[in-house]
Amino acid sequence: MGRYLGPSCRYCRREGMKLFIKGLKCETAKCQVERRQRNLAPGMHGWRRGRASEYAIRLREKQKVKRYYGLLEKQFMRYFHRAERLKGNTGETLLQLLERRLDNVVYKLNFAPSRKAARQLIAHGHICVNGRKVDIGDYTTNIGDKITVKDSQKSAKRVKQQLESNPNFTTQNWLQLDREKPGATLVALPARSDVQITVEEQLVVEFCSR
Ligand code: ZN
Repeated sequence: MGRYLGPSCRYCRREGMKLFIKGLKCETAKCQVERRQRNLAPGMHGWRRGRASEYAIRLREKQKVKRYYGLLEKQFMRYFHRAERLKGNTGETLLQLLERRLDNVVYKLNFAPSRKAARQLIAHGHICVNGRKVDIGDYTTNIGDKITVKDSQKSAKRVKQQLESNPNFTTQNWLQLDREKPGATLVALPARSDVQITVEEQLVVEFCSR
């Protein structure tokens, strides 16, 4: 599966907001949003940017969500089509599906410092769902799913270190964390208010269904 390997905070600058693609990097001066020319788009022609067109506004909204969850175009569109087929508001369903990704859940449990790091933790076989190893980050979690760390010292140590590095971290209501184990249960599906990125999902839907 392909993934983006370039500088992560370039996307922060492009979207004009911190996307936390590489976790804590966004909290330092290294995040390009902090830089002097932050209002300009990346590249030497950033200053040429005129007033955004209707199309451009929708495109940016889509790109922002896609990059926030660390997806490439094809993967993202798969989520969009899945959301379209499901009942309810397509935009909200899309965000909910993205939030339910196992890599997002692992990140929101603070088992890893970023979604990217969470995906690696999963790919390396440290995470189990309902007692079985799941090594794909795009696994869609469901209510009642029990997320645990593989029963090995190495796995547990790695996750516990991360949890201890951030003792004030609180998990969202849809996740019930057991710090000691460490493990967690999905007690609900994520709600719209659990999505932490500022996004107008209707614009994303308009872009994708054009
Ligand atoms: Zn950044």
